[in-house]
Amino acid sequence: MAEETRKLNILVLNCGSSSLKYQLINMEEKKVLAKGICERIGINDSQIKHTPIGKEAVIIKGDMPDHKNAVQYVIDALVSKEHGVIDSMDAINAVGHRIVHGGEEFASSTVITDEVIEAVKTCSDLAPLHNPANLIGIDACKQIMPNIPMVGVFDTAFHQTMPKKSYLYALPYAYYRKYKLRRYGFHGTSHKYVAYRAAEFLNRDIKDMKIVVCHLGNGASVCAVDGGKSVDTSMGLTPLEGLVMGTRSGDIDPAILQFLAEKENKTLEEVTSVLNKESGVLGISEISSDFRDLENAIAQGDKKAALTMNVFCYRVAKYVGAYAAAMNGIDAVVFTAGLGENNGAVRSEICSYLTFLGVNVDEEANKCRSIERDFSHEDARVRTLVIPTDEEMMIARETAKLL
Ligand code: AMP
Repeated sequence: MAEETRKLNILVLNCGSSSLKYQLINMEEKKVLAKGICERIGINDSQIKHTPIGKEAVIIKGDMPDHKNAVQYVIDALVSKEHGVIDSMDAINAVGHRIVHGGEEFASSTVITDEVIEAVKTCSDLAPLHNPANLIGIDACKQIMPNIPMVGVFDTAFHQTMPKKSYLYALPYAYYRKYKLRRYGFHGTSHKYVAYRAAEFLNRDIKDMKIVVCHLGNGASVCAVDGGKSVDTSMGLTPLEGLVMGTRSGDIDPAILQFLAEKENKTLEEVTSVLNKESGVLGISEISSDFRDLENAIAQGDKKAALTMNVFCYRVAKYVGAYAAAMNGIDAVVFTAGLGENNGAVRSEICSYLTFLGVNVDEEANKCRSIERDFSHEDARVRTLVIPTDEEMMIARETAKLL
């Protein structure tokens, strides 16, 4: 890394509608100095949970009617005498913002200017729950830290290398022209970090690799990374498409929307809400959206919990198979995020479908959690890896690179 980027302290912000997650990262040591979350912004009982790394977390109750107040609480916590990690706000060299949707406008991270803010606003139609919250965070920082440069890192940007055959839906082309209706994909920051880290871990040049990254968390997506570029991904115009997720259905027959609306006497909006919030793992299992609850139920012999796990794993495996075809080959399958990093049984079941490709799991090595590990058998033709994701570090890196 260039000398001038190493000195930086980068504040990484991830703003939701009523929350704000942050990490202060020192790029010289590639070390997180502090992290935390402001919750219930604009509601009541707001609070900040602040963790200076190496010390106990503190919870500070406070009045946060809006994100500007929340950003001020973050700065105060970072410079505080008792649990601060820097002397003053001047020690923050730049702010990296996670922005969910960059549409076709942003194929890479970018320094935030007034023009960029306007362009992000135009993408809000595509992510009405997320982009406005991200913009509020940017505005709050502009007011509180007007002289500190900001960079936007987009969840969609990594996937902008997808060829048209991957991102076009088979709908009248006019909808693409008029509304930019197409596959965008999400989790791009994670897919990029994990793919590049996997190549580094294997001591190989990513340019020569065909990698499938399985980001399996509450939200889940698969990405085909050919030569370091995203060439296909399972999420679409919105994060609803693709895999079975905690509460999201993933792929279904689109005719189900009208069918359910008629049978259940629901509006389209209500049916879409069912697909987003009441489906997926929660919907099938009727137990929980959290795989830990499912594991407990399976251990007690619950058949529907076991079936839910089968449906989940089968869908992931089908995507990996499809992406092996999309890239005409595959060198590594990499697992990340809450489930991918922690659930060996899920990894093992997914891999059981992929032996025809040359996947061969070392079950002993697969008994791992949240560490970087190659868990393939020595005879495997395709490597299988766990690489814990680190979206904040990736955002900090992108920010440092641009400044
Ligand atoms: P994420 O959205 O990345 O936080 O992932 C959430 C999913 O990962 C849930 O289904 C959890 O059951 C699972 N998960 C997260 N952390 C763990 C853990 N430490 N052990 C087992 N499963 C976990």
